[in-house]
Amino acid sequence: MDDKTMVTVAELGRMVESIFMRAGFNAQQAVAIARIITAAERDGAKSHGIYRIEGCLRTLAAGKVLAHARPELIDEGSGVIRVLADGGFSPAALDLGLPVLTARAEKLGLAALVINDCVHYSALWPEVEALAERGLAGLAMCPSYAAVAPAGGVRPLLGTNPIAFAWPRAAAAPYVFDLATSAAARGEIELLARAGKPLPQGWALDAEGTPTTDADAGLAGALLPFGGHKGSALATMVELLAGAMIGDLTSQSALDELGSLDLAPRHGELILAFSPARFAAGRPADPQVQAEALFDAMLGQGARLPGQRRLAARARAEAEGIALDAAELALLDRLQRE
Ligand code: NDP
Repeated sequence: MDDKTMVTVAELGRMVESIFMRAGFNAQQAVAIARIITAAERDGAKSHGIYRIEGCLRTLAAGKVLAHARPELIDEGSGVIRVLADGGFSPAALDLGLPVLTARAEKLGLAALVINDCVHYSALWPEVEALAERGLAGLAMCPSYAAVAPAGGVRPLLGTNPIAFAWPRAAAAPYVFDLATSAAARGEIELLARAGKPLPQGWALDAEGTPTTDADAGLAGALLPFGGHKGSALATMVELLAGAMIGDLTSQSALDELGSLDLAPRHGELILAFSPARFAAGRPADPQVQAEALFDAMLGQGARLPGQRRLAARARAEAEGIALDAAELALLDRLQRE
């Protein structure tokens, strides 16, 4: 910890927001982006924290995201609510849609938020966590860009397609998982390539479609889904529900439009919200009691719940601040002045 500097969550939020304002984003976009990046850093989700800022700014410089995007809500009163993100980053679109999604799920028991035309760089857990904090179960998913070969295939076709789920708990923080459907993120393979280290078996294929443990060969080839055909099927479901079904791009078409793996892709996202109270109405069993019994049994076996690591990091950050190293501080400093 010696070479680390502590900054408060609020201080980091202000720094990140000022970087995006200075880069030309309108306040609606900058505030929403900064909140999500700061939350990731606070929760020790480093892969989606300040590390992402330069990628967002590169995407802006390449003209692949609209700094002045004004998301538009389209709500016809049904269970499907739509936000057109106007080519901006997804967080501002989510901010607009979330209150309507929450109210509609409470009323109907089940509702969906479709986000179209957004540029996506973020983790999905903040989105479902926000639903669970309002007493709803949430399920979010989005495609990405083609980087993953389907099980049995040889070339990139699917995205790393994250799926996140949250369950509300009366006396504890929500149960939340958020996972990529690839065996590993491309970024992890890049880090191993830089360090000259081999990949674990089952992470990647080379350009000829042959399994490889050579990180550079894997980067030139394709990632593999987690869990073989099972992860492949889940990633395909994400392409269908959060790409084709919502009238937006699949990972292949997102890559075709973007032409690069170095920028944030543009596509859609699907967020489902469920009211456990409404689903179990009239039944003798209480969903909350059943859920807590399940969590207790898991913990009783020595398992940990997904989200526990993040929540512990959050508690530390809120008590002591976020520890940033010299390179991270220099980056923030430079970007605030550029
Ligand atoms: P991990 O494999 O690190 O973790 C996946 C989930 O499993 C987390 O909820 C984690 O909780 C939980 N978990 C990890 N270890 C255990 C354990 N031992 N016991 C119980 N639960 C555990 O995440 P991924 O690498 O798959 O994904 C990282 C992030 O990347 C996600 O936030 C995802 O949204 C994001 N992503 C975004 C994409 C995009 O296009 N926008 C594309 C792909 C990924 P915990 O956090 O507490 O460790």
